[in-house]
Amino acid sequence: MSPVYRNAFLWMIIIMLMVLLFNMFNTKNYTYSNLDYTHFVSLVDSKQIKAAHFEGNYAYITTTDNKRYKTYVPDVKTVADKLVKEGVDVNLKPKENNSLLTNILIYWAPMLVFIFLWFYFMNQMNRGGGRALSFGKSNVRMFISDPKNRITFKDVAGVDEVKDELLEVIEFLKNPKKFTKIGAKIPKGVLLVGAPGTGKTLLAKAVAGEAGVPFLTISGSDFVEMFVGVGASRVRDLFNQAKKNAPCIIFIDEIDAVGRQRGAGIGGGNDEREQTLNQLLVEMDGFQTDTNIIVMAATNRPDVLDPALLRPGRFDRRVVVPKPDVRGRLEILKVHTKKIPLGEDVDLEVIAKTTSGFVGADLANLVNEAALIAARRNKTKVEMEDFDLAKDKVLLGPERKNVIISDREKRITAYHESGHVVVAKMLPNTDPVHKVSIIPRGMALGVTQQLPEDDKYTYDKEYLLNRIAVLMGGRAAEEVMIGSITTGAGNDIERATDIARRMVCEWGMSSLGPLHLSDENKEVFLGRDIAVRRTFSEETARQIDAEVRKIVEEGYMIAVNIIKENREKIEKLAQRLLEKEVVEAKEIDEILGLEDDRAA
Ligand code: ADP
Ligand code: ZN
Repeated sequence: MSPVYRNAFLWMIIIMLMVLLFNMFNTKNYTYSNLDYTHFVSLVDSKQIKAAHFEGNYAYITTTDNKRYKTYVPDVKTVADKLVKEGVDVNLKPKENNSLLTNILIYWAPMLVFIFLWFYFMNQMNRGGGRALSFGKSNVRMFISDPKNRITFKDVAGVDEVKDELLEVIEFLKNPKKFTKIGAKIPKGVLLVGAPGTGKTLLAKAVAGEAGVPFLTISGSDFVEMFVGVGASRVRDLFNQAKKNAPCIIFIDEIDAVGRQRGAGIGGGNDEREQTLNQLLVEMDGFQTDTNIIVMAATNRPDVLDPALLRPGRFDRRVVVPKPDVRGRLEILKVHTKKIPLGEDVDLEVIAKTTSGFVGADLANLVNEAALIAARRNKTKVEMEDFDLAKDKVLLGPERKNVIISDREKRITAYHESGHVVVAKMLPNTDPVHKVSIIPRGMALGVTQQLPEDDKYTYDKEYLLNRIAVLMGGRAAEEVMIGSITTGAGNDIERATDIARRMVCEWGMSSLGPLHLSDENKEVFLGRDIAVRRTFSEETARQIDAEVRKIVEEGYMIAVNIIKENREKIEKLAQRLLEKEVVEAKEIDEILGLEDDRAA
């Protein structure tokens, strides 16, 4: 139960109790014992009644000696009249609709609701591996692959090398004897390393699906609890469940949440995490290789893992799940568009080409967004323009249609973006410009969409310098064309400076030579030691700053010169942008008179 629900639950109990108490006091203030009619009549006759109160056919009486009785009276009127005549206080109330049902509703409904809720929440707590009642039950989710629609390698695309490596694991699960017979030990742990969304969970599920074994999963962050010891008991529970279901796969997502180096970080070690990790190691060492459980874990940060986890007998297999290349992206797109009716103009190859850097999850999201856009427009097929819109949305964030932008701001943005475009077009060795827009999205007022032609794994110095110049093109255009500079260039400047600094410090592309000059310890909170350890002197630090400055300023000068030489073109492009808000690659080339030179 989430805290919100728990609070609501408590309040509900309190309110229920209050209703109950109110009802109790509201009914009868006294208890009346039952009296048979004969005795009642004799009491009336002997004038022993002090007060009487009739409710429907029931008489509630108080005797002269202060006893209270309740009797059924068939003829209320006669008896009441008689009592009145004798000077008894009589109080008459119409018959209450005392049917069984109303009784239940009035007095028992709150109770019943309460009981129902009680059982309901009890049940919930138990099922959710609740903290309150069953301490330490792990949040294990188990998937037993249903042979009909289980996830297999067919659902995972573009990572053929990874699949090859995992084939072995499937073989272990299916046919362990083959390996144990000749004395080979079956590996227990496979660590999947890759950026978020590259399909690590999917791969693990597919391995389970291919081998036809259950898939038990838990996230590393589920282990990390507030209470010391809970994490460890969850680990125990997880492995117990796995042993019952062997052969099977245990999948631990985000293992870095538990598996970080022990005794590290601010404030010394985290006791709870350490215990959890120790328990994990104990369990992994504990089960025999013939138990046939394979632990798969995912992380995007293998560098922070405790070395003990990576030792033989634990996660000794490491499989890197890379970001997909063009071919991979095409395959993934094919998988995800299988069930979607595509228009004739849809060219998945083009989409794959223009989405470098996208991982599987991004592509799945892209396809889904495109389908949503098409559905919203009441189409029966998803067309290329839907994909284009979806891509803009995924890449740049949704359009902010409601922001009001002054004409002046729009004008400045148009020049700023035109500046980026023209510099990118005039310099060689830059990424092609796909479109430029001055529709605000996310934080940005305008966007120049530039995507690499193919996947780049390395960058040459010229490319980087030109990239900095392109980034500076926005600011340069503001200055040259309008004569005033704005905050709009803040992000460009940050990115340019970052590139320049890395050129100097990481890639050895400055007069300081090929040295690695970064401040160690970017991540203090995971870190091994807290103090920043610099690997260079004050003097070098000063030189680095000077080099970075030089590179960025040179880029800026290049941009300014290009803008000054191309005033007319920028003017034209900016005007077109103000008219249309979005200008595509082809039109950009027309405006800049570049149709023949460089096809983007
Ligand atoms: P990770 O665990 O690496 O963060 P997931 O396995 O959860 O990533 O991937 C999220 C989703 O992205 C998957 O459910 C799937 O729809 C899609 N996806 C990711 N990689 C691939 C791939 N290689 N082939 C097909 N779909 C993929
Ligand atoms: Zn810009």
